[in-house]
Amino acid sequence: MLRLEEYENIIEKCSHCSYCQSTCPSFLAEQSEAFVAKNRLLLIRETVMHDRMPYSSRAQEILDYCLLCTNCTQTCSSKLPIDDIIIAARSKARQKGGGIKQFVMSKMLTQRGLAGVLGKAGSIAQKIGVATKEIPQLAGRSFDKMYSGTYSPAGEVKKRVAYFVGCGTNFIFPDTGEAVVKVLNHNGMEVIIPPGQVCCGIPSLGEGDLESARAMVETNIKLFAGLKVDAIVTDCTSCGMMFKEKAARCFADDDPLQEQIVAVTSKMWEVTDYLQNEGLTIQPGKLDIKWSYHVPCHRGWSPTVKDAPRKLLGQIPEAELRELEHPELCCGGAGTYFMSHREQAEKIREQRLEEINNTKANAVLTQCPVCRFYIGFKVKDREVTHPITILARAYGL
Ligand code: SF4
Ligand code: SF4
Repeated sequence: MLRLEEYENIIEKCSHCSYCQSTCPSFLAEQSEAFVAKNRLLLIRETVMHDRMPYSSRAQEILDYCLLCTNCTQTCSSKLPIDDIIIAARSKARQKGGGIKQFVMSKMLTQRGLAGVLGKAGSIAQKIGVATKEIPQLAGRSFDKMYSGTYSPAGEVKKRVAYFVGCGTNFIFPDTGEAVVKVLNHNGMEVIIPPGQVCCGIPSLGEGDLESARAMVETNIKLFAGLKVDAIVTDCTSCGMMFKEKAARCFADDDPLQEQIVAVTSKMWEVTDYLQNEGLTIQPGKLDIKWSYHVPCHRGWSPTVKDAPRKLLGQIPEAELRELEHPELCCGGAGTYFMSHREQAEKIREQRLEEINNTKANAVLTQCPVCRFYIGFKVKDREVTHPITILARAYGL
């Protein structure tokens, strides 16, 4: 239940193999042993868990520098839930007082989700020392102001699919949402977008604000559990991870909500993964595009989500995939990390940008809206977008 006490014995299972080192973006950026996951676990054990060492500003810095990318969890030889332990530690550390950045971010997230953070971009930028232009701009009209309710395909309804719209798509990139609805409809799927959806809760969880995360999970789960649908899709891999891996862990095992969580998450898919699994009923037309694929870090909740865009867009005649040297390298965006830890995020992004430039592709595709923004902020010579928008284009939608 993301309570630090529950991880005491689990931390001791670390074999000190250091597999977690080579995949940790904060270690790779800083080249400091303190940032390797195994050492973060020891720090948590000695400070926040047992008070054997003071929870100093340096200790807090080391915990806060984690991007919660989950790369260590995915590579850990002992299968330790490292990111969950860091979340639980942050939650406990909040009781000991956080810094100004964490406080401001947390308050904004608690009040109005991502929209709250971005809608107050000016005042936040001033408080945390970030230029306003480095904060994503809200779209003129949010997706939920344009799309809500049921959208039926022209012909026979082959499947009924509910759509969970994350904050990134809703407030920054509504074009992704439009493409989701159109492509699903085009493939004979009815799309249901229930009104009343809220942030999935992952930003609050990352800040250690379990109370807010629980409230958001409960709202969304109750909304989707009652729908009679074949599947529930999201276009965002981080929202998908929140539903599939974190929602149940926000509540006690015997909480009455657990049954509904299972009912919802058992139907949950990332949209390209779902389409690839179902199979396209109409083949896309040709599209002269050379594209690279930036695989989002939050891919571990599905064994197929990281290959779905490759397979799906591989069906578009003349579209050519130009693989990045390290497709799974973190871009440094990580939710609101790029705002709260600007210098480190920029260091992490540098290698990503170098590889992108080397491909000579004319588009970079990724299923994470934060990656899309954070890479796109620097990449001006090519399009950065979600794979589903390219499929919609190939269909002429
Ligand atoms: S979650 Fe990512 S940034 Fe944090 S310790 Fe693990 S690999 Fe490093
Ligand atoms: S990969 Fe896992 S077991 Fe190995 S050192 Fe890192 S945390 Fe410990």
